[in-house]
Formats: sequence, structure tokens, C-alpha cells
Amino acid sequence: MPLSSTLPGGVGDERRFVAERLLAPSQAICAYFARVELAVPRLERVALSAAAGRVLASDALARDDHPSHARSTMDGFAIRSGAKLQRKIVGEIRMGCAPPRPIEADETLRIPTGGALPEGADAVIPLEAVDVAGETIVMRVAVAAGENLTQRAADLHAGECVLKAGRRLGAPELGVLATLGCTLVDVFVRPRFGIISTGDELIDPGEIPELGQVRDSNRYAIGAALAALGADPVQLPRVGDEASALRDALRAALSSCDAVILTGGSSVGERDLTPAVVAELGAPGPIVHGLRVKPGKPALLAAIGSKPVIGLPGNPASSLMILEAVARPIVAACTGATHDRPVTVDAIAAAPFRGREGWTWFVPTKLSDRGGTLLATPLPLRSSHVSLLARAAGYVTLGETSGQIDAGERVGVTLFSSGGAPIEPSA
Ligand code: AMP
Ligand code: MG
Repeated sequence: MPLSSTLPGGVGDERRFVAERLLAPSQAICAYFARVELAVPRLERVALSAAAGRVLASDALARDDHPSHARSTMDGFAIRSGAKLQRKIVGEIRMGCAPPRPIEADETLRIPTGGALPEGADAVIPLEAVDVAGETIVMRVAVAAGENLTQRAADLHAGECVLKAGRRLGAPELGVLATLGCTLVDVFVRPRFGIISTGDELIDPGEIPELGQVRDSNRYAIGAALAALGADPVQLPRVGDEASALRDALRAALSSCDAVILTGGSSVGERDLTPAVVAELGAPGPIVHGLRVKPGKPALLAAIGSKPVIGLPGNPASSLMILEAVARPIVAACTGATHDRPVTVDAIAAAPFRGREGWTWFVPTKLSDRGGTLLATPLPLRSSHVSLLARAAGYVTLGETSGQIDAGERVGVTLFSSGGAPIEPSA
């Protein structure tokens, strides 16, 4: 039985894709996770200063209340709330120091923003709301208990799970971890994604192409996208269109990496060897071959044991788009990130977006700014153009039943994981 007829959707007996059998991207990802049990990522402990961009591997709990004491949010005077408008200044609270003494109802201590509230006080009156006469203040307004201060534990309370395992650590998360006193952070080891580009025509970027030769651009684009998604891209030697070389390269990659991404040779042509070679190397093997999408129909989603093997089409725009728009959840799962989601911005279609009924189209899209409104302009889909995605800020997904968007309609534009074309003022 030909390999492909055992797959859901995909390839017909005459080795060509049969549209009715192809899976939509969401179906393909469901089928993938239903069949593949990915390895649980390993943990490592890193310094807080090296934790940005990493995925937290264990819940971060607050050991103590934060703040540990009520603190002023204004420069002013610490007081006990009450009707009395006149208070005697009995001293000053300094930053980083405990209050010098408690206060009585008719007393006050000067307090800076962030200063610790003294015993006996329950509010702060700001400087601008008092008249100071010698050692006395006269409050121009009454202040209620709790005003102008942060209560103890208002920010974080002891025992609270502030950050859950699986969260990617960015700026606010690092601030929280520092406040919790975490100098070492448990994170998931970045999964090593081996990248193998395939094709007899490929040469290194430093070489001068002869007629028919193509500089290997995919490995760099794919490597950057993987890094942005939190994986560790590992550049492996390129292989030509030869089954035994591909088999050896894939075996070696599987022994040294947690996942493998191949580009090129994923379709159904004579020299498209990836699906058959992947199938030889072990179960579960190819899970989905061929997607009802444009660009990137000839993609392959596979696994050997618990290691993903993703065969991206060779065309530059297709390979990157399939990684970003289809295979991204597989990469995210390997990193341990539980809430990876691409960022989508709202825009107004500056021109019609046209797809094909029954197909998912990822339309590379330019964004421009007209007086604060984002305008989305579709770019013509040329999957062989290496410049296409560099001209786009992101892409619009036309679903199987929402195949078109008219000019003037609202449209969501998904941004690329590793940046994209800048948003220029609209002409
Ligand atoms: P394939 O998917 O192998 O049939 O390749 C489709 C097209 O993509 C061919 O024109 C290839 O030359 C081109 N291509 C394949 N791999 C790469 C690569 N790594 N970098 C740039 N172009 C590529
Ligand atoms: Mg090829």
C-alpha cells in the first residue's frame, strides 16, 4: 500500500494531492496532537538575569506578602483618619528605614512616596492638601482610612501562585520574580530543533549561484522564527535530493536534537523524498501530508517516537508561513509554553482579500497607518518569492467559509513571531 493512502487526507494513489482528502490546518494540528505524545521538556535552573524569553518550569509562589507593610503612594504626611484637621509634626519617615515611632491621633510624620506607614496611622494626606505652619499641619480636606496608600499584601499575598509554569518570561514577569526573591529560576530547556535544508540546487549564501542554483535562505529564516518562538535552532548540514543521504542526515539529527525541521522535498514529485524517508525511520511517522492551505500545501507533519519531524515546502514564503501559521503549536509544545498565541491586530482592509471557498489562505499583508487607523493591504501570493514575507507585517487568515473580505471591512492581521515589515504612514 502506498504510504500516503494510510494518512488522513493527502495524497492519492497516483502520487498527487487530492483536494478533497487534504486537511485544513486546524484539523491537521488536532490529528497531530491526537497521535503524537511529545516528550515533556527538561528543566534547568538559570540566573534571573538570564531568564528573559525562557519558559517558566515551576509555579512561582509568593513566599511573603508584598508589600510587607502599608506604604504611602504620595509625598505627604502619615495620619490617623478622623475629623481633626490639625496635627503636630513629630518627625520624618525615610526611604528604606522603619518609621522612627508610632503616631497618636493628633500627630503626623512626614512620609515620602513608598515610605512605610507608621503604627497608629491609616492614611496619608498629600503635601498639596495641607498648610504647614511651623511644626503643625492644617489639613484642607479630610482623608478617609486607606487613602493614598498601598495596603500590606495588596500587590502579592503570601502563598499566591503569581506565575504558572508554562508562562514565557517577559519584562513584567522578571519584575515579579525579582520581587519574590527568586535569584535562580526553573525554566524548560530550550528544545533543540535541527534544521536540514534539502535540494540539489542549494548553495551557501556566500557562494555565487550558477544558472539553476539557489542560495539556501530557508534555514536562516526558519532558524530566526524558531528562536523567536523560544526554541534553540541547530543548523545541520544540507543534503541533496538523494534518499540515503537524507536518511543518514535525519537519523543523525534525531539522535542529537529534540525535533527536526526539513525544508524542501516534501511534495509528491520524483525528487521529493522527505515523506518516504521519514516513514522509514519509525512510528508514528508521517501523520499529515498535504494541507488544504495556500501557500504551503505540500507540508508534512510527522514524528519519530516523541520527536516532531516537520517537512516544510521549499518555497521560501511557504516554508516560513507554514511554520508560523500551522506548525507553531508544535514548536510551542516542545518549549513547554502553554499559552503561546500569535498577536493579531485590528485593521481596515484597504483592498479586497480574496481566497478560495473551502481552503485556508494565509495572505501576506502590509500594514500602514492612516491617522491612527491601521490599513491592511494584501500582497499578491507568490510562494517562491523570498521577499514576499519581508514586505509583509503579518498575514490575514481567510478561513474555509470566510474566503473573502471586502475593502473597508475590519480584518485581523496576525503578526509574525520575529517581527515583520514596519508600519509606514499610509500614502
Ligand atoms: P521543493 O519544495 O524542494 O520542491 O522546492 C520548491 C522551491 O523552493 C524550489 O524552487 C527550490 O529551489 C526552493 N527552495 C527549496 N529549498 C530552499 C531553501 N532552503 N532556500 C531557498 N529556496 C529553496
Ligand atoms: Mg527540492
